[in-house]
Formats: sequence, structure tokens, C-alpha cells
Amino acid sequence: MATTSAKLEKDDVWRMENCPADSVALGRAAWTLLHTAAAYYPDRPAPSQMESMRLFMSSLVENYPCFSKEFKQYMEEEPIRVGSKKKLSEWLCKQHNKVNEKLGKPPFDCAIVFDRWLQGSCKQCEQ
Ligand SMILES: Cc1cc2nc3c(=O)[nH]c(=O)nc-3n(C[C@H](O)[C@H](O)[C@H](O)COP(=O)(O)OP(=O)(O)OC[C@H]3O[C@@H](n4cnc5c(N)ncnc54)[C@H](O)[C@@H]3O)c2cc1C
Repeated sequence: MATTSAKLEKDDVWRMENCPADSVALGRAAWTLLHTAAAYYPDRPAPSQMESMRLFMSSLVENYPCFSKEFKQYMEEEPIRVGSKKKLSEWLCKQHNKVNEKLGKPPFDCAIVFDRWLQGSCKQCEQ
């Protein structure tokens, strides 16, 4: 059993390093980039930073290889909020929850979004 799971892990690592991304790998990577960018966004952004974030998000959605149509629709229903780190992170969390809901996944608690993406305050993150 241990050998099988060790082999699976090895296969997974090999696939990650050598195969094209599937929707799961791409999705995780994209969410990591987006939530991390939001977590490091300023508390008081300059107008140029707000504009740059708007452009970044709309370009990403425009060029995302799959699902961009639906996500664009979510963005139209609830336009991006670039006024501060908190506003942006909460907005993104809500958008991600819309995708979670569509995929039948439980919602993420947006009250702990900075624990997850900025502070990493759970014990395992400190290892
Ligand atoms: C813009 C976009 C649209 C997508 N649309 C689709 C689609 O229509 N159909 C499809 O099959 N896949 C879609 N995906 C991919 C999908 O959302 C997942 O990334 C993929 O299914 C892998 O899911 P996962 O369970 O590993 O966790 P992910 O959903 O990738 O989440 C990664 C981590 O983020 C954290 N997290 C979860 N929810 C939130 C939240 N609300 N706020 C903050 N952190 C959170 C959790 O710690 C989680 O482990 C989309 C991805 C993106 C970036």
C-alpha cells in the first residue's frame, strides 16, 4: 500500500513537471496567483495601481484558456473592487465561491481569506 501511494506521488510529480496543465492544475495555479496578488495589493492603492489591477484582471479573464465566458459574466454581475486590499480580496473570494458553487464544492469562508493567502497562520504552514 505504502509503495503504491509513494509511486502515485512520484507519478504525480512527474506529470506536474512534464505534462500540459489540465483544468484542475491550471485552476489551482490561477487562483493562487489571483488570491496572492490580492493579498499583497496595497491598503491604499494609487489610482494607477487600481487601473493596473482592473486591467490585469480583465486581461487574465480574456486570455484564460477555459471558462472565461462564465467568469466574465460573474464579473459583469459584480464588478471588480479595487479600492483596497480588503475589498479586492473579499470580491475575489466571492467570485471564487461562485465557481465553487457551480462545481458543487462547499463555499470558502471569506472571513479567513488572509489567514489562507497572506498570514498562513495555521500550524501546518509553519513547517
Ligand atoms: C477564473 C476561473 C474560473 C474557473 N471556472 C471553472 C469552471 O467553470 N469549471 C471548472 O471545472 N473549473 C473551473 N475553474 C477551476 C476550478 O475553480 C478549480 O481551480 C479546480 O477545480 C481545482 O479545484 P481545487 O479543489 O483544487 O481548489 P481551487 O478551487 O483551485 O482552490 C484552491 C485553494 O483556494 C482556496 N479557496 C477555495 N475557495 C476559495 C475562495 N472562495 N476564496 C479564497 N480561497 C479559496 C482553498 O484553500 C483551495 O484549496 C476555474 C478557475 C478559474 C481561475
